[in-house]
Amino acid sequence: MKLVQSILTKNPCYKAGKKIAVKGLMLHSVGCSQPKASVFINSWNRASYSRACVHAFIDGNDGTVYQTLPWNHRGWHAGGSANNTHIGVEMCEPACIHYTSGSGFTVSNKAEAQACVKRTYEAAVELFAMLCKQYGLNPMTNIISHKEGHAKGIASNHGDPEHLWKGVGLNYTMNTFRQAVKAKMAGAVTPAPSGLQATAFKDMSEADIIAKVGPLFTADQKSSGILASVSLAQFILESGYGKSELAQNANNCFGMKKSLSGNTWSGSTWDGSSVYTKKTQEYENGQYVTITADFRKYPSVEKSIADHSAYLLGAKNGSKLRYDCLKGCTDYKKAVQLIKDGGYATSPTYVESICNIIERWKLTQYDASAAAADKPAATPFLVRVSISNLNIRKGAGTNYATIGKYTGKGVFTIMEVKAGKGSTAGWGRLKSGAGWISLDYATRI
Ligand SMILES: [Zn+2]
Repeated sequence: MKLVQSILTKNPCYKAGKKIAVKGLMLHSVGCSQPKASVFINSWNRASYSRACVHAFIDGNDGTVYQTLPWNHRGWHAGGSANNTHIGVEMCEPACIHYTSGSGFTVSNKAEAQACVKRTYEAAVELFAMLCKQYGLNPMTNIISHKEGHAKGIASNHGDPEHLWKGVGLNYTMNTFRQAVKAKMAGAVTPAPSGLQATAFKDMSEADIIAKVGPLFTADQKSSGILASVSLAQFILESGYGKSELAQNANNCFGMKKSLSGNTWSGSTWDGSSVYTKKTQEYENGQYVTITADFRKYPSVEKSIADHSAYLLGAKNGSKLRYDCLKGCTDYKKAVQLIKDGGYATSPTYVESICNIIERWKLTQYDASAAAADKPAATPFLVRVSISNLNIRKGAGTNYATIGKYTGKGVFTIMEVKAGKGSTAGWGRLKSGAGWISLDYATRI
């Protein structure tokens, strides 16, 4: 984190000179499309600017933190009594968003907007970890957003910064933020949530949820050979469109238990230890009974989908594959029957339910065509990068060091694609030999 002092000594709030005992931290975002902290600093550092003052701005273009008030100075950021207790920090917002009304905005360049928002989020995590240590605060209970402050009755009615994260399509929440601060304080690498979180489904419509996860199942079919329409219908039935207790709390979208077929199958994406315990209903001897069981907990929906497919491909009954012939099966009715016959589900109406869902939502539209499924990802290909600061890394993942250079904007040839940490679309190897880039920030052309 780069921290620069730029105290707003001309602002009337600074001149008021009141001190506070710091009891908490409040996270804001500026609420207008301005990534440059310097713009705010210049306009707020005036005797005539008596509306507001905060403790820091985080620049959207490079993530630099500009401290604008002494930390224990009473700020004017909350529009409520939180000013007496909380440090207030503003994250700047991307230039490529356009406010339409209130907290609503449109995004003209999603990749650029997300890169900017990710930068300020990660810098805020570092800053808040530092401040929590400095003031002996508990990140899980002493950090709130402006929006949460309003809900507690200690701040004015604003929706920031959650509106920003949601509006640019990132799955950040105040909970992921607090967890990241906590992890940072423990010295761990900042885990900005990678991959889709089922909590994102909470307020979405069924149709929107299907549109969001459909492509994940198409991608899964390309690697597993299991029909996307079938797995997607299982997701819908078994997680209630991703809104079940298990999905919401553990990203477990298929009711995958801790132990399945003796866990002798290969390719599992579960870490082998994270579990969520809950009551569940099982169909036994002609009736439903309630039991308590341990279920697998995943870091993302993608991991849940991959684990479910690995199970279907590898689970055995004795020495025989339970779901033999499922891989490559292109008839969804047959595929569902194979799954049922292998002992996957105990419900007597399972096949009918899954087929009904596939037909109702026309889920076969997500099936990878047979031809496409056979074709290996064609490389090399060209991508366009439209942000100036896309890191080049030594390997395929954020766990590899950066080489200290950016691609710059332009068109690049990708020679090879690999899955890796921190990128949903995967990592591409640059033809130049310089290293790897996240394809989340590149558009295939
Ligand atoms: Zn605010």
